[in-house]
Amino acid sequence: MTDATLEFPPETMRRMGDQVMRRVVDHLARIDEQPVRGDVDATALCRAMREPAPEEGSALEPLLDALFDEWIPRTFNTASPGYLAYIPGGGVFPGALADLIASGVNRYTGVWPTAPALVQLEANVLDWLREWMQFPATARGLFTTGGSMANFAAIVSARERKLGAELRRGTMYLSTQTHHSVGKAARLAGILPDRVRAIEVDSTFRMRADLLSQAIAADHAAGLQPFLVVSSAGTTNTGAVDPLPAIGALCAREGLWHHVDGAYGASFHLCPELRPLLAGLPQADSVTLDPHKGLFIPYGTGAVLVRDGEALRAAHAETASYMPENQGEEFYDPHQYGPDLSRGFPGLRVWLAFKLYGAARYRAALAEKRALALDAARRVAALPHVVMDAPPQLSLFAFHLEWPGATLAEQDAATRELLERVTRRGKVFITGCQAGGRFLARVCVLSFRTRQAQIDTCVEHIAGEAGAIVARARA
Ligand SMILES: *Cc1c(COP(=O)(O)O)cnc(C)c1O
Repeated sequence: MTDATLEFPPETMRRMGDQVMRRVVDHLARIDEQPVRGDVDATALCRAMREPAPEEGSALEPLLDALFDEWIPRTFNTASPGYLAYIPGGGVFPGALADLIASGVNRYTGVWPTAPALVQLEANVLDWLREWMQFPATARGLFTTGGSMANFAAIVSARERKLGAELRRGTMYLSTQTHHSVGKAARLAGILPDRVRAIEVDSTFRMRADLLSQAIAADHAAGLQPFLVVSSAGTTNTGAVDPLPAIGALCAREGLWHHVDGAYGASFHLCPELRPLLAGLPQADSVTLDPHKGLFIPYGTGAVLVRDGEALRAAHAETASYMPENQGEEFYDPHQYGPDLSRGFPGLRVWLAFKLYGAARYRAALAEKRALALDAARRVAALPHVVMDAPPQLSLFAFHLEWPGATLAEQDAATRELLERVTRRGKVFITGCQAGGRFLARVCVLSFRTRQAQIDTCVEHIAGEAGAIVARARA
């Protein structure tokens, strides 16, 4: 008969834990020696990897060999200090420790009465985020799996508050630069694409409040019901911060909900000296944060704060006779504020990271990332043939290559080639985007591992490759 025991003896658990920990720590200790963009041309590999469910168990070491030697290297190295692509992640080690604890003890933290003290830790962290965003005590929040689901929770709250059952009349507004997760979240929330207006941006890629006002008026005139504006506190393309005070004032005047997608940029609000860059954020009706970006937590943790916490609760609260008795208003009960019931313990990752580092170190790290981006932008802008399209508002800038006589198509091709050649050198990874009618290269500094050395390498490699590309194009 097959053994039905799934528990390991303590000494086995300890040995397996040591084996895994050794791999992870060895990996992290040499993270900057690995190419920052691994070989992800892996269709043949992936086909060869398809396998039936194993009937018999196997040893741990060979599985770790395959993971750490073959599969993990064939990834974008999003944990690398040279990862300046898209919006960087990072993954601070306390997050990994928290996951081990959370999964190891496997307690039920979606429901307050089942783990009150653990849920309180999560409530505490949400409260810290609330204070750092300067939201009022009436605000409530939710840890989500990411910024996309945070945007979704905000849109559902706005819909619940502003539209009730009349979904089809409702119209919402974003900009041509808004992250695509917002349109997706709108659709999931029942706001279909024909009720979503993409407002044009100005030359700095910020939403034009005058055009927003006109679009709202036009929809009113057409008998529709404008209910929500989503602005960006740092767009993914160029890092643009929309004019939050003007948009907020317009929303207040018109009775619209103002959601700020701060998945990239809101964490800079932790630093008092950087708050002017995000003026208007504390007055928003809701804000998306993405701790797995700007708080350096491992992937799988987003967050939303809603000023009128009752709106978040109204959109999600449910009861059932088999559930433990709710404890009333005093204590935060996660499943009353979000779609999940059973779930992981996202709050522990953020809690442990802040407890181990302290908030002051986080502020220092965030301020350093911005300073590094300013330094990189200043030096890249000074290079021949570089035109800075979007200087850093937070920690992201965008630029292109240009030389006399070059067509737009030639400039786009040269800028694309620049990204490819810089990234192929293996030390820094940069990506591009289409914005303002041309292709832009962009550098985003947000990994906690990125320090001055990577910025120096980035500038050096851009300078070398840009010079070579333009010299060849002009020859
Ligand atoms: C990354 C990002 C999102 C989506 O967040 P996920 O965590 O990837 O789901 C939304 N908005 C902006 C501005 C982002 O940068």
